[in-house]
Formats: sequence, structure tokens, C-alpha cells
Amino acid sequence: MREQLLNLLQLQTFDTKVKELQAAATNLPAKLDPLRRDLAKLQGMLNTEKTKLAETENWRKGHQDMIDQDRMSMKMAQGKLQASKNTKEFSAASREVENKKKSIGDREGELKKVSESVTASTTQLTARDADVQKLRDELAASEGAMGGQIAELDAQLVEAKAARDAARGSVEKSLLKTYDSLVGKRGYAVAPVVKGTCQGCHMALPPQLNNILARMTGIETCPRCGRLIYRKELLEEPVVTPAAAPAAAEAPPAAVAEAPEE
Ligand SMILES: [Zn+2]
Repeated sequence: MREQLLNLLQLQTFDTKVKELQAAATNLPAKLDPLRRDLAKLQGMLNTEKTKLAETENWRKGHQDMIDQDRMSMKMAQGKLQASKNTKEFSAASREVENKKKSIGDREGELKKVSESVTASTTQLTARDADVQKLRDELAASEGAMGGQIAELDAQLVEAKAARDAARGSVEKSLLKTYDSLVGKRGYAVAPVVKGTCQGCHMALPPQLNNILARMTGIETCPRCGRLIYRKELLEEPVVTPAAAPAAAEAPPAAVAEAPEE
């Protein structure tokens, strides 16, 4: 009986390990999602700014063309001014020259302002381009490193699955059926009893059931959660239940952290 319980617990340990590794392998790639989102957002903003800059550049070219046209018109007006035969023609041509001069001056002023802002924007965009590229490199490096981690997890998973399958082989067929059905319904199948209380559902067992467990004559089930139960103190092997596993996993880093002080 003791051996069957131990086999069951071993199976449970490996099942837990397989589940943990599977969860880790699934969660790992999602860790880079925030970085991917940041990058997409920055790239989107950058593209919008580039589009705006291109539009401004077009406006600037159009404006330059208008100035060139104004210059030609002014030359013609100056020609008229020189050829004017009377005061009326002279004053009309001279008004035209003045108008064109003012128009050119105004447009050149606008063009200068816009050109300055284009230069500033171009400098800013170059810097942002570099930032985005840096982020892209960072993501690529992280993805590369993660590829290694995922491969490592996959290898561990293959190993854990093999160990689990071996453990399944050592458990009785009928018991395995109960075990699988409990895993499906309850998450895990075997629970220790401590001080008369099932650790799977925290119900206090009837005293007579607790006494039966003490004799270890058969594998009993908890009346409330249905899990396969055993008295913990009677099976003082290193027992890993799913609830105890995370605490055990946290212990080693603490010990490592103390090491440099020595
Ligand atoms: Zn229970």
C-alpha cells in the first residue's frame, strides 16, 4: 500500500512538473508583448510624423515655385516701368512692382519659417529613427535569448514527460483511472491528511476514517473532495504537492543570495 501511494505521489510530482513547464513555455513568448507594443506604437507615431514632413516639404516646393513666378512677374512689371510713356502707365507699373516685391517678401518670410521647422523636424526624426532602431535591436536580442530559453524548456519538458510516463507505468491501472479522473475534476488527485484534515479541501475527516488511514490497509478517498488521501506523517518521504511546490522552488535563490556575504 505504501509503495502504491509513493508511486502515485511520484506520478503527481512529475505531472505537476510537466504542467509547470508547459505553462512556462506558453508564457515566455508573451513576456515580450509589451516591448512589441511599444515598438509598434513608436513606429506608428514616427510614420505619421514622416508623412507630415513629406507634406510640408511639398508645400515648401509649391511655395518656392510661386516665389519664382512672382519674380518673373516682377521683372515684367519692371520692364513695363522702364517702358512707361506717361504718368498713368508709370504709376500702374510701379504699383505692380511694389505689389510683387511685397508678395515675394511675405512668401520668403513664410518659407524661411517653414524651412527652419523642417530642419528641426528632420533632426528630431533622425533621432527618433535611431531610438526605434535601438528598440528593434533590443527586441531581436531578447527574442534570440528567448529562443534559447524556449529550447531549454522544451528539452526539460521532454525529460519530464518521459519521467511522468514511466511513473504512470508503475501505478495500478484501476488506480490510474481514478487518478486521471480526479486530475480532470480537481486539478490534482492525491492529498495528504495533516492532523485529521484533508489538505486538498481542508475538511476535517471523520475520526474513524483517520484511524483507517493510520492502518494503511487501502487507499481511501476524502468524503468531500474525493481525492486519494494518506496520513502525511506515515509517508515522511520528500512529498511535493502542487501547493507546496512553489515554496520549495523559492528556497534555493535565498540561499544563493546569502552566499556572497560569507
Ligand atoms: Zn478533501
